[in-house]
Amino acid sequence: MLTGRELPRFRKQLLKWFREFQRDLPWRRKLDPYRIWLSEIMLQQTRVAAVIPYYERFLEKFPDVSALAEAPQEDVLRLWSGLGYYSRARNLQASAKEIVEKHDGKFPRELQDALALPGVGRYTAAAILSIARGAKLAVLDGNVARVLARLGAVRGDLRESRRWASLQKTADALLEPKSPGEWNQAMMELGAVVCTPRAPQCLICPVARFCRARKLGIADRLPEKRQKRETQEVAIAAAIFLDSRSHTLLLPPPRTKNRLGEGTALAPLVSNLWHFPAVQVRTDPAGELLQHVAKLFPKISKRNIVLKPLAKARHAVTYRNITLLAFRISVAQLPDFLGAKIVSLADVCSPTSHAISNLTRKLARAALFREDSLAASA
Ligand code: SF4
Repeated sequence: MLTGRELPRFRKQLLKWFREFQRDLPWRRKLDPYRIWLSEIMLQQTRVAAVIPYYERFLEKFPDVSALAEAPQEDVLRLWSGLGYYSRARNLQASAKEIVEKHDGKFPRELQDALALPGVGRYTAAAILSIARGAKLAVLDGNVARVLARLGAVRGDLRESRRWASLQKTADALLEPKSPGEWNQAMMELGAVVCTPRAPQCLICPVARFCRARKLGIADRLPEKRQKRETQEVAIAAAIFLDSRSHTLLLPPPRTKNRLGEGTALAPLVSNLWHFPAVQVRTDPAGELLQHVAKLFPKISKRNIVLKPLAKARHAVTYRNITLLAFRISVAQLPDFLGAKIVSLADVCSPTSHAISNLTRKLARAALFREDSLAASA
């Protein structure tokens, strides 16, 4: 893309800008592979501002790989709770265990070893090894791909495998070999704060004069749109049992408890975490939930289950738009269920109190809101 004299000028210009204007981010303060790794995993699909408090809380509790490897998974998921995409947290801990067992507690130095860790792909490995160890590996993710597509006026779906491979070659060719970690961060920073998805700020861009899309006047039209997966509408009805102390019942992650077929449809929707008794419904939410609850708790007579509808809520997960229908079931005593836990409803609403998904937290808030309104009007 850039050759001859242009290439060193481009590199110099971008690095100069990065050194002067980079954001002060917590994971940039120490070149520790563990911290960089943690930040890279948390930043997947999540904005920087949202990640920072999670990152700091997580590091305080698990300051190094060994602490993370030894922690109960429940604690790890609890501190991740609210960030979403929980497989990232599970993989992070599985990798930490592997690092302790096979690599003496130190993040591997070789690319192949890093790639063998659960949840570590080419991008994450390149980011950690270049930033923490100076490895000459160029990063390529959606953010960097967008910058490269604009710089080279690349059209079409960037994720198409041949195009992606060609972008990786471009990223490799542009990499500044003397400071690859800094270079990678500069490319990412450019994509995050200047060459942003919707409105690239070409007027203040440090590499504007090298950019073909800007010259052609098509910067804001690149990258071209990908074919989107059709949105699926889903409705979930959940039973929120409440006793007189406002305690409720959470069931264990569906993958460990799918004897009722609950796990298959529900597991991805509740991120394989603690959840209210719930079921995907189609035509008759209250009736279908009643059937489900009766199956889960055979000792309760159906006639004694009174479902009180609460406020509806909405939730979106990737291509699914979910309507959440919470129903309160008031009981003198919470029913027994193997492996379930009894918790205060208010606690379920607060971040990091339990390993639950945002979907479950929204259901709890719908119930708590109703409880508060009832208390106020009493
Ligand atoms: S000139 Fe505009 S489109 Fe080109 S890299 Fe800079 S911000 Fe992006």
